[in-house]
Amino acid sequence: MPSIASRKVEQSRRLQQRAESMIPGGVNSPVRAFGSVGGDPPFIARGKGSHIWDADENEYIDYVGSWGPLILGHAAPDVLDAIVGAACNGTSFGASTPAEADLAELVLAAFPPMQKVRFVNSGTEATMSAIRLARAYTKRKYIVKFEGCYHGHSDSLLVKAGSGVATLGIPGSAGVPEEFIQFTLALPFNNVKAVEYAFQKFKHQIACVIVEPVVGNMGCVPATDDYLVALRMITERERSVLIFDEVMTGFRVAFGGAQELYNIRPDLTTMGKIIGGGLPVGAYGGSSEIMNLVAPLGPMYQAGTLSGNPLAMAAGCAMLKHLRDHKEIYPRLEKLSRTLVEGVATAAKGAGVPLCYNRVGSMFTWFFTPGPVTDWDSASQSNTEAFGKFFRAMLDSGVYLPPSQYEAAFLGATHTEQDIQQTIAAAKQAFAAARG
Ligand SMILES: *Cc1c(COP(=O)(O)O)cnc(C)c1O
Repeated sequence: MPSIASRKVEQSRRLQQRAESMIPGGVNSPVRAFGSVGGDPPFIARGKGSHIWDADENEYIDYVGSWGPLILGHAAPDVLDAIVGAACNGTSFGASTPAEADLAELVLAAFPPMQKVRFVNSGTEATMSAIRLARAYTKRKYIVKFEGCYHGHSDSLLVKAGSGVATLGIPGSAGVPEEFIQFTLALPFNNVKAVEYAFQKFKHQIACVIVEPVVGNMGCVPATDDYLVALRMITERERSVLIFDEVMTGFRVAFGGAQELYNIRPDLTTMGKIIGGGLPVGAYGGSSEIMNLVAPLGPMYQAGTLSGNPLAMAAGCAMLKHLRDHKEIYPRLEKLSRTLVEGVATAAKGAGVPLCYNRVGSMFTWFFTPGPVTDWDSASQSNTEAFGKFFRAMLDSGVYLPPSQYEAAFLGATHTEQDIQQTIAAAKQAFAAARG
């Protein structure tokens, strides 16, 4: 394990300064900034499997995995071959290509409640479009979301939106007029009564309930037993659309996502991350009845110049085919993730550090609070200063974690038993240093 003093930062520091002079904060997505944890963000030069190398040639075990997509690790051979193969035939046409139906077939086969799917370029586009579609279908205005859930950065969804905004300590976002969010009801997660109350108060006015079925964006917070069942029951009774935002959980917590894991059939599903194989892809889908409202078949307009891009479709196909043909990946991820998450928790306990964890399959968070963490209020009890210290110590030992207490970390198929043991050893050292 590299010693704490050995991490070089010269090149990364220079690259950060250069980027900062032209790009706000030097980053093209605020979650990449190190503001809440401190220290120098490594600029990544390359990745292979579970490891990444920065511009100063420091090597890290990566538990970010591009924030979820890279369940097969960096530079996965199948995915690379598919991208190169597709690129040689041209990178974009703005006309239909066969790979779009190939990826659609793979997605629909894995998610039985979906009969049709539309591909877009990001999770943000997927959720924004699904909300528009739910409103078009129900002819209602209000939407219900939950505190700490993030559904991308579209105006009406940037209310109590977890991770990125919470890390920055801002409640929503400047530049979103009140009028744009007057139909967004943000309710506490894991609280059925709050949902019942909202449906009573806004009778026949709620178009949809959108939820991360396993929240990843306030750190990992699973739904309690029966919560998702209750959401399904209430929305069905009230003729409101239930949207599972599976941008993070799709093909992650199970091949068929959280809806397979918990056996719930949502009306609409949004996806992203893994389905793009590391390229920019999002998707939304549901029954033909609802999806036939989408243009050109119906009156709900949604479009994209680069949507269904051949490189992105090829990468997604290679990724999903690999997962489909190697389902043994999921039980292995379960086992390795448990060893890692419990190993670090045991190390914390041994050092007297108050810490709890949530984990569903290969997504997890160590919260620096005694817990339990079940919603945004309990997540926000975390000692973010202690997390920052832990984060920096891990980074210096060659372990790259998400630079925020309020993000999920991920394991991928290329992580090894040795990665796990090395990470637990690094955590032991970090907790001992924090105490001493
Ligand atoms: C990442 C994420 C999004 C946003 O996806 P982008 O591709 O970043 O726009 C939406 N919903 C969930 C649950 C996510 O995890």
